[in-house]
Amino acid sequence: WTENTIALVTGGNKGIGFEIVKKLGQEGSTVILTARDQERGLAATENLKGQGLNVVYHVLDVLSATSISQLAEWLKQKYNGFDILINNAGITDYEPSFASAQMVLDTNYRAVKEVTRQLLPLLRPSAAGARIVNVSSILGQLARLKNPALREEMGNLAHLTEDKVDRFVENYLEDVKEQKAAASGWPYRSYTVSKIALNAYTRVLAESLKGRPDGQHIYANSVTPGYCKTDLTRNSGIYTAAEGAETPVWVALLPPNGPTGKFFSEKHEEEF
Ligand code: NDP
Repeated sequence: WTENTIALVTGGNKGIGFEIVKKLGQEGSTVILTARDQERGLAATENLKGQGLNVVYHVLDVLSATSISQLAEWLKQKYNGFDILINNAGITDYEPSFASAQMVLDTNYRAVKEVTRQLLPLLRPSAAGARIVNVSSILGQLARLKNPALREEMGNLAHLTEDKVDRFVENYLEDVKEQKAAASGWPYRSYTVSKIALNAYTRVLAESLKGRPDGQHIYANSVTPGYCKTDLTRNSGIYTAAEGAETPVWVALLPPNGPTGKFFSEKHEEEF
């Protein structure tokens, strides 16, 4: 990986995203640190540049289709594309309400899809293959779904489609709105639902990218960083954010012809 390798990280201003930017920079890539807040994004970028890393800031609010398309245009003009996309930005809610559940699903699932949809055409052909890494969670494992019909629907890769994952999310939000989420067998936390949907989407995405000719491969995987001390967990984790960044970066930089459509934890493959 050289400075000609361009990686882009969402939510790079703090936490695990910041540490992912740092590690990718230390591995020799040019890294585009994106953040929705310019002040926080620039401060983080200056910090890493001060450590000798090749880091460039660009604004990105993953919830804004316009913000994503402006980033896409800039990437095209400045670098003629990029090589590694790390969908890291994410949020949680602590006491689910309909509004907060919607926000969590919008950020952790729908925004990842929209960022990927708009940026995927800019992933550059290369011998190593382009990479998409979705930062998910161990909570995204299907075992968290106590409703067997839902588990079967999300786990049956042969029949899984993006529409089905969308509907899964819509049905959940509908049940939250009608205050029957628990009775319908949904996990307690919207965060859990968002990461289950993200994992399912990653598998569908990877399937859709299989069979591309040599030199145009795109590998898409999801990872759990482990339970980390960050703002998201109110610093209650067991690992540091830097430790949490290890597996996402390891997956992003695996040698060519590596896995796609898989889920990783602590540098090994996990069950979905
Ligand atoms: P932090 O809260 O420390 O960081 C989250 C990052 O996402 C921030 O940079 C935040 O920006 C950004 N973000 C949130 N919403 C948006 C948005 N609309 N547009 C752009 N950026 C946004 O959390 P973590 O570092 O812990 O989390 C990073 C990822 O790791 C998340 O996907 C999370 O679900 C996942 N994860 C974390 C675990 C943990 O134990 N910490 C465990 C499992 C998964 P801002 O500063 O502007 O709010």
